[in-house]
Amino acid sequence: AKAAGKNRAQFYVSAMSDSAVNYLLLENDLRRALEQNELRVFYQPQVDLNTGRITGLEALVRWQHKDRGLMSPVHFIPLAEETGLIEPLGAWVLEQACARFQHWLAAGIDLCKVAVNLSTRQFRQEGFEHTVAQVLRKTGLPAQCLELEITESSAMENAANTINMLNCLSDMGLSLAIDDFGTGYSSLAYLQRFPIQKLKIDRSFITNVDRDDQEAAIAKSIIDLAHNMSLEVIAEGVERASQCQWLGERGCDQVQGYFYSKPLSEEALMNLVSDSERV
Ligand code: C2E
Ligand code: CA
Ligand code: CA
Ligand code: CA
Repeated sequence: AKAAGKNRAQFYVSAMSDSAVNYLLLENDLRRALEQNELRVFYQPQVDLNTGRITGLEALVRWQHKDRGLMSPVHFIPLAEETGLIEPLGAWVLEQACARFQHWLAAGIDLCKVAVNLSTRQFRQEGFEHTVAQVLRKTGLPAQCLELEITESSAMENAANTINMLNCLSDMGLSLAIDDFGTGYSSLAYLQRFPIQKLKIDRSFITNVDRDDQEAAIAKSIIDLAHNMSLEVIAEGVERASQCQWLGERGCDQVQGYFYSKPLSEEALMNLVSDSERV
């Protein structure tokens, strides 16, 4: 019986795929990374299509891993969501972004606002609005300089509860954007009741917007929907001048993407800003 038990244990170990083992290792590693300050916030400019000026920044987390190098959030955010680590991680990103933006403001660098991504779990956290209020108080950032991004699918799941939370946040004076718009299933009745300012068109509808009729039709519908609801609209993942031109001609307000800039470290962002002031 003992031998069979041992075999079974071996079976389980060998049946675990490399990626499952990796996942377990990664979870402990991520806990440690949070404690040891290995996370970094990068910032990607958002640009007004008419004036070419920066209208805001999106804060995007990265992990400066001691062995694996700079890791993209796609490799650890889902894990953080599953394990609950997203709550301390998300709170850290929020505070970091607010503190940094306030520091820039105090130095006379005004980039309008900083947008921070919220995961579903974070947003559904009991008393989440108090966490936000506390971060604003602690960092001194004016609420109107903060934008929170919540994905369309997360917003539409339990939409009645979403309205309550968004109202609490909106009453504080910050702005709200619906991220990855077009990939979820929006109820327009709910969308209309959300106290939001902006829709972000998902990158999947922008990739070939300048050369694919179906993508173009969807992107155009989202731009018109936003404007009919008096919302701003921004396109994500803009990589080419021809996409910018297409979007500009259809009245899209803002763009974000590699065409203008990749997400940048604080230092690289400051170089970009001082270079553009010199022009
Ligand atoms: P997202 O919120 O949709 O962020 C946009 C992603 O598109 C970013 O990926 C950005 O680097 C990338 N991107 C921007 N412009 C372009 C472009 O022109 N072409 C292409 N191909 N990609 C572009 P990133 O930084 O790897 O983040 C991936 C996702 O991870 C984010 O998607 C967001 O869902 C999540 N994430 C990042 N930071 C946080 C965070 O602090 N909290 C939470 N909850 N999620 C985060
Ligand atoms: Ca986002
Ligand atoms: Ca997005
Ligand atoms: Ca996305």
